[in-house]
Amino acid sequence: MTDSRFYRPSKKTFKLAVKKLNDGDILSFPTETVYGLGADATNNTAVAKIFSAKNRPIFNPLIVHVSDTINAKRYVIMNTLAQKLASNFWPGPFTMVLPVKKNNGLSDFITAGLDTVAVRVPKHKVAQELLHIFDGPIAAPSANKSGKISPTTAAHVDSEFFDELDMIIDGGVCEKGLESTIIQINENGIILLRPGSITQEDIEKIAGQSVKMNELQSGSPISPGQLKSHYAPNARMRLNVLTPKPGEAYLAFGHNIETLNSLNLSPTRNLIEAAANLFSMMRALDHLKIEIIAVAPIPAVGLGVAINDRLERAAAAKGPIE
Ligand code: AMP
Ligand code: MG
Repeated sequence: MTDSRFYRPSKKTFKLAVKKLNDGDILSFPTETVYGLGADATNNTAVAKIFSAKNRPIFNPLIVHVSDTINAKRYVIMNTLAQKLASNFWPGPFTMVLPVKKNNGLSDFITAGLDTVAVRVPKHKVAQELLHIFDGPIAAPSANKSGKISPTTAAHVDSEFFDELDMIIDGGVCEKGLESTIIQINENGIILLRPGSITQEDIEKIAGQSVKMNELQSGSPISPGQLKSHYAPNARMRLNVLTPKPGEAYLAFGHNIETLNSLNLSPTRNLIEAAANLFSMMRALDHLKIEIIAVAPIPAVGLGVAINDRLERAAAAKGPIE
């Protein structure tokens, strides 16, 4: 690993990053959720490079990042409800899937043929600065190979791409550690496509109406890309385990079990801390090349819903154990 791919945020770095985006290249930058792999969302060739670098299926649409609500409105139609949610949750770890505007200028790869676009206004200083200086929409999925664990540090990104990627803006550890909450607003109301740190209850409080869970739970995705298997380590995952078996690695929550290879998501059972630690600890245990990672039960309330969502998808990758 050379250091030449890592860039500290600075005027010079942003200038180079914007040049790369304008040249149709991809780069990685931090957001408050996870590190993104960014490209000019209006440039077909650049967006195609994201799909190619990630081995991402082209039917899986991308989230478009913009600097503020005014810019979001250049690409999507925002009704009163969408505006209300935007004014409460943007900038932040919150993505809305909304009807796409005609002649929006976005690359066709962004929507994967749907008549909706997912938009987000990130809060992270580096992401905001990049969006402001670039002055355009940036398509940015998580900077990992498709289906693998999302990166929460610059080093994670580098370990996925090595020399396939020559610019990673290093903004330290991502504060939230889980991807953004995704909702869709349509004639059926608000549908939660992906749980995240803005919880169902947070959204319901502001919206004044109930938020329906995505159909994925019952096995039928309502849109491309709501893939059941994701965030997958090489090891198999065994969930809701109070006592790991000999030889298993253990991801604890709260009181730790003294096994040789264990990490604790949060000794004080703090879900915010657990979310921030989840992906980096999954990676760390996976590096031990142990066959099974057992994971403690995480309460499925509040942010715990999003943590369990990621764990279940990670476990789905290699099927049930036994
Ligand atoms: P990632 O880019 O890895 O954070 O994943 C983005 C998620 O947003 C994927 O699950 C996509 O399927 C979903 N997504 C993006 N655009 C849309 C859209 N127009 N409709 C529904 N889901 C979308
Ligand atoms: Mg991802």
